[in-house]
Amino acid sequence: MVKKQVCSFCRNEIEHGRGTMRILNDGTILIFCCVKCKVAMIEHKKNPRKTKWTKVYGTQ
Ligand SMILES: [Zn+2]
Repeated sequence: MVKKQVCSFCRNEIEHGRGTMRILNDGTILIFCCVKCKVAMIEHKKNPRKTKWTKVYGTQ
């Protein structure tokens, strides 16, 4: 049974074998469903709760 992964930024589910993984210097593993999420989080350092197209937009 494969555990479903969710995107670290938008929280959408990622199909097994898809998405890109990024490991930070502190050991945190981030998984992204697409380049858009990766760029938003790593390069623009956006907050997913303030980004309209994420699943967590508007949540606490
Ligand atoms: Zn995503």
